[in-house]
Amino acid sequence: MTETSTCRICEGTVRRFVDFGEQPLSDAFRDPSDETEEFFYGLAVGHCSGCDMVQLMEAVPRERMFHEGYPYYSSGSTVMRSHFQTTAARLISEYATGEDPFIVELGSNDGVMLESVARAGIRHLGMEPSASVAEVARSKGVRVREAFFEKATALEILEQDGPADVVYAANTFCHIPYVDSVLAGLGELLVPEGVFVFEDPYFGDVIEKASFDQFYDEHFFLFTATSVAGMARRFGFSLVDVERLPTHGGELRYTLAREGRRTPTLRVARMLQEEARRGLTSPAALRAFADRVRANGDRLVGELRALRDQGKRVVGYGATAKSATVLNFCGIGPDLLEYVCDTTPDKQGRLTPGSHVPVVGHDRFTEAYPDYALLLAWNHADEIMAKETGFRDAGGRWIHYVPEVRVV
Ligand SMILES: [Zn+2]
Repeated sequence: MTETSTCRICEGTVRRFVDFGEQPLSDAFRDPSDETEEFFYGLAVGHCSGCDMVQLMEAVPRERMFHEGYPYYSSGSTVMRSHFQTTAARLISEYATGEDPFIVELGSNDGVMLESVARAGIRHLGMEPSASVAEVARSKGVRVREAFFEKATALEILEQDGPADVVYAANTFCHIPYVDSVLAGLGELLVPEGVFVFEDPYFGDVIEKASFDQFYDEHFFLFTATSVAGMARRFGFSLVDVERLPTHGGELRYTLAREGRRTPTLRVARMLQEEARRGLTSPAALRAFADRVRANGDRLVGELRALRDQGKRVVGYGATAKSATVLNFCGIGPDLLEYVCDTTPDKQGRLTPGSHVPVVGHDRFTEAYPDYALLLAWNHADEIMAKETGFRDAGGRWIHYVPEVRVV
């Protein structure tokens, strides 16, 4: 694995600060009878001193990640459904105020946000390259185009539908290494005062919680307000608002507008100051993060081995994309976890990518509660722990590994 790579934003030098070794595609749940060779890539993360952007050292081709069988459905969580309903209401009230507004979403998934826009009778379009989730969105009355958003597709939308008042993306923009083409496309598609609103996992939270499993193939960038402000400037935009969100383990919602078209809120200046004060991407902070990740990984494996040796039943809870990083980095396989339970039918009956732990339905969990459950879907911890009182009452205990390993 190389020590340096070229920055996708500024073409400066990206230096590696943490290495998770060879990793499978995070959503490539495997059929047990599949004998073809599994695809692996080197997952390591670097920082560009030129533009301060945190990014993967190696990009996985997008068609390998977002395809007809993509198994992640945004509607899966009650908390997320409610989050996207609130988001739709806000986008409508703040930006869809003109005569015949038009809202576009990048990576519209199963239509969880746009269905509210559709119900409000507002013109919209979801861009979604993964057929599995796009089909679900269509069944909810959402207009979807199965394509990646980039400059060429932006021009096609402009020709067909006219300019957009707002383009929104949740947990999508950080997936895209070729931001230049996306931002050029937004420059074409948005009305003059139009905005691009996007939310993604926040590197400030990753550093604070040592939530290293936010790094996986799909999360190419881990943004900060500082790195996003710099990236926006480079492409003729400016960061005009920023907001912290509790979703997915800590995210920021960024609003970009064309340079000089909207006045930045005070929150932007405050956030930039706070990041400078915290020294989020200083060499010392990045080194400390890497040390903490290794220590937490060792502790987690130690804990699981000890439980196995005591004859305890331990399972994983939530076959999340992010769990690929922790399972493969720590070497946690079927010898340490009996199964991973998940409510997504597409994942059940398969094996976790790389680590090959059987994925089973949630009913297996409730039928005979295990002694311990490793909370792989820790970003939904509150929702899950509130729901699983039966496990608790049966004496079951949760194993957490973010921000540190603890059994509760
Ligand atoms: Zn750079």
